[in-house]
Amino acid sequence: MPQIVAATGNAHKVEEIQAILAPLGIEVLSAKAVGGMPDVVEDGDTFAANAIKKAVEAARALGRPVLADDSGLEVFALGGEPGIYSARYAGEGGNDGRNVRKLLGRLDGQTDRAARFVCVIALASPAGLIGTAEGEVRGHIIHEPRGDGGFGYDPVFVPEGFTQTFAELPGEVKNRLSHRGNALQNAVASGLFTAV
Ligand code: IMP
Repeated sequence: MPQIVAATGNAHKVEEIQAILAPLGIEVLSAKAVGGMPDVVEDGDTFAANAIKKAVEAARALGRPVLADDSGLEVFALGGEPGIYSARYAGEGGNDGRNVRKLLGRLDGQTDRAARFVCVIALASPAGLIGTAEGEVRGHIIHEPRGDGGFGYDPVFVPEGFTQTFAELPGEVKNRLSHRGNALQNAVASGLFTAV
């Protein structure tokens, strides 16, 4: 079974990536399990640039194949905010709760609440980048958080075709529909993991 390290300190992301790839015979280790994630400054101006940087630098530092995920929420009426700044929307030292409150404040009085989650994954070996894949899921932002599952903006995001938020839907349903799930399925379909 190929072993890949997930280059993220976000335990929720690791769990989702493990759940999606385990049935495909790909074992995903957390960075913590292999001695910790090297510090990588996310200074790219796209999801792809950041995902590539994280994967390439971590694979070189760890001497193992690494999968990195850079993802975020884009709200169309806000010109794509919070986008690549999703994790730090409410400022450095912010958290999911504050980010969600800032988003709901920015959307106060706004009737167009359409949004999408985007995820770019990058796979790298110690020799360099193997490739990238992208996924998205469309939906809308509700007015008050609902649900205890997931992380980030999940309690305010309702995917198209559903009435529950990602934080209310079972994890298997989120993983089947999500930007992360779609990016990983696209990576599998394009044969990215066969190079590991
Ligand atoms: P990253 O770790 O720099 O890629 O930041 C990703 C940020 O985007 C997270 O901290 C969340 O705020 C948001 N995000 C990405 N994926 C999800 C998701 O699946 N659910 C909810 N929020 C997400």
